[in-house]
Amino acid sequence: MMLTDGPIGIMAAMPEELQALLDAMPDEAMVVRAGRQFWVGHLHGRDVVAVLSRIGKVAAAITTTLLLTEFGVRQVLFTGVAGGLGAGVKVGDVVVANSLVQHDMDASPLFPRFELPGLGVGSLQPPADLTARVARVVGEVLSPASLAQGGALADVHLDALGLGRPTVHQGLIISGDQFIHAAQACHALLQALPQALAVEMEGAAVAQVCHDFGVPYAIIRTISDRADDDAHIDFPRFIRAVASRYSLAIVQALLHPQA
Ligand code: SAH
Repeated sequence: MMLTDGPIGIMAAMPEELQALLDAMPDEAMVVRAGRQFWVGHLHGRDVVAVLSRIGKVAAAITTTLLLTEFGVRQVLFTGVAGGLGAGVKVGDVVVANSLVQHDMDASPLFPRFELPGLGVGSLQPPADLTARVARVVGEVLSPASLAQGGALADVHLDALGLGRPTVHQGLIISGDQFIHAAQACHALLQALPQALAVEMEGAAVAQVCHDFGVPYAIIRTISDRADDDAHIDFPRFIRAVASRYSLAIVQALLHPQA
């Protein structure tokens, strides 16, 4: 699918990721709305508006709504980090959402658990053509050739961080207003939502806003931790050395007109 005309909204979850995007934007101008700094400019020759989502579902929903109503974006790309839940989803992998659930939405017995009252569904699916294109492009960006000597991401030293070659997954991402950091919590989430690949705090809220406005969106998450109590690699270092690099490379590749 070709990208639609008009600005593309790029939401980053971490300041380091946003900074990497801003460093690559030649002419951005800042516009403040609701205390948020929206950066209007160009990336890879495309009109873009880049903004920090802020953490949590409400904050991210407000940011998304502003992108759609104040800046008229025609598409939302969200990049951030998440905890890995699914078996085989390891630190350094990337998950592209083909479905999103708010795991802390529960108005039962009035509505089935997870159902979004008023929408009549418990999960939302981004447009399949956009998801497929994003997954293909992410696969190319993180290909062995790209990470090998001479490749675009050759300076991302995965082995120095104890990481293997990344796998790109497509599947269910679940969101809630909790940072999940215990094996027991992971277990409970997987029992309720066995298909879940990753857990984070914004994606399903962004999905709900984009759904209501009828605007296509993609949620792309690099796995920063396994959401359990095991030791994991240094979070700030991972964000800087891996997640920010992946986000920028992925967003730039997605903005390429041929992608
Ligand atoms: N230490 C960080 C905290 C942010 S981590 C800081 O300095 O700000 C929380 C963010 O990462 C959220 O935006 C969430 O979407 C995502 N995330 C990563 N791992 C997560 C997990 N295990 N559970 C929930 N959210 C997670």
